[in-house]
Amino acid sequence: MKKQFAVIGLGRFGGSICQSLSEQGMEVLAIDLNEDKVNEFANIATHAVVADTTEENTLKSLGIRNFDHVIVAIGDNIQSSILTTLMLVEAGVKHITVKAQNDYHEKVLNKIGAHKVVHPERDMGIRIAHNIVSKNVLDYLELSDEYSIVELMAGQSVHGKSLIDLNIRAKYGCNIMAIKRDEEINVSPDATQDLRKGDIIIVIGADEDINRMEEDLFDDED
Ligand code: ATP
Repeated sequence: MKKQFAVIGLGRFGGSICQSLSEQGMEVLAIDLNEDKVNEFANIATHAVVADTTEENTLKSLGIRNFDHVIVAIGDNIQSSILTTLMLVEAGVKHITVKAQNDYHEKVLNKIGAHKVVHPERDMGIRIAHNIVSKNVLDYLELSDEYSIVELMAGQSVHGKSLIDLNIRAKYGCNIMAIKRDEEINVSPDATQDLRKGDIIIVIGADEDINRMEEDLFDDED
């Protein structure tokens, strides 16, 4: 059976989640207070309804507890976001993802039992900053305060060298999880694998080790 999603709040963030889930063939209920927003998503989501999710009876009548995953993307109105999340937790929804506006909001959401709290503006800011500092860093995923997964572009300085030649694991303590070349992805590459300029390398490790490795091996000017 298809997974059932509900997206509450159809601003830019909630709207793009709703659109992407629908494009992936999921069942999506789109909910917003604002009728214009709901009309915008009437042909995109499976169902679209005008509702105020801070009203407990409204949530009940939508049968919200039967959804597999509910995404709360209420933006500026932090009070409504918290109240909605609290009622979803109390209703026993299995997966609740909530967009936080700031660190205090995030703290409260975690405290009341949201399963996942996302902070898209902050996270995207961090990712873009890494990409601005080094154009070889294509993408960046923070795993914790100290560990990350990073996508690096191989330049001339590593072209033709194998992972053994570069001695990445011993020298930097990082692990190459995969190498992407054109459309092919080599997961857990062999240490004898040669790198080519233009390869995309996916590395996991401590931030300071990844930075050291990136400065030594991937900081090409061209
Ligand atoms: P984004 O950057 O993603 O657009 P935003 O901060 O601009 O985020 P808002 O526009 O503030 O997001 O809010 C997202 C949507 O949530 C709005 O369309 C708003 O009508 C809706 N919303 C706010 N409160 C409720 C509520 N209690 N029930 C349902 N929808 C709500």
